[in-house]
Amino acid sequence: MINGEMRIGVYGGTFAPVHSGHVTAAETFVRQMELDLLYIIPAYIPPHKRLDAGDDPHHRLAMCELAFAGKDRIIVSDMEIARGGTSYTVDTLRALAREDRRLFLLTGTDMMLTLGQWREAETIFKLCYPVYMRRESDPETERRIIEKNQEYQRRFGRIVRRVPCDYLDISSTEIRRRIHEGEPVTGLVPKAVENYIRENKLYV
Ligand code: ATP
Ligand code: MG
Repeated sequence: MINGEMRIGVYGGTFAPVHSGHVTAAETFVRQMELDLLYIIPAYIPPHKRLDAGDDPHHRLAMCELAFAGKDRIIVSDMEIARGGTSYTVDTLRALAREDRRLFLLTGTDMMLTLGQWREAETIFKLCYPVYMRRESDPETERRIIEKNQEYQRRFGRIVRRVPCDYLDISSTEIRRRIHEGEPVTGLVPKAVENYIRENKLYV
C-alpha cells in the first residue's frame, strides 16, 4: 500500500503447464514491485496461440493452484476461465480496475514485444503499468525492446519498465517436449505439478 493505493499485480498466461520460470518470475514480481497482491490468471482461450486438445483449462488452473499454494500475497484466479471465450487482457484489467488500486501487468520479453498489437492496447496502457522480465539473454532482443519502448512512448505515452530478475530460461513448450520424449522435468516444474502431470498423463 503506497499513498492509500493497493498495488495489484496481474500475471496471465496459458500455463500449459506452469513451470519454475513462472514461479520465480511471480515471486520476484511481488518483491520488486512491492505488491500487496498478485493474481495469477490462466487464460481460457489465449488470443495469440493454438492450444492442443489436451490443454484442458481446468488442468491448467489446478496446476497453477498447486504451484502457488501457500505463497504469500499470490492468488490464482479463475476469472478468465469462468468468463469463457477468448481471454483478452483488457477485459481482465477492466474487471480488476478500481479507484484505489494501481495495477501492474507482468509479461515476459516475448509478450512485451507484442503488447502494442493486443486488443485495445491503448486502454491496457491506461488501466495498468505494464512491466516485463527477461527470460533469455541476447543483445538482439535488447535492441528490439528499446525500439518497442520508443514506439510505446510515442503511441501510449508510457514505456514498459523492466523488473530485474534472475531469469530461468525455461518454457512450457520445452516441458511438453521433454515429457513427450520421456525426458525428466525434475527441477523445471514444481514437484506437485510434476506429480499432477504424471497422474493425469498430460503431454504424453
Ligand atoms: P509456451 O512455450 O507454451 O508459450 P511459456 O513458457 O511461454 O509457454 P506462457 O504461459 O506462454 O509460458 O507464458 C505466460 C507469461 O509468462 C508470458 O508473459 C511469458 O512471457 C512469461 N514467461 C514464460 N516463461 C518465463 C520465464 N522462464 N521467465 C519469465 N517469464 C516467463
Ligand atoms: Mg509463451
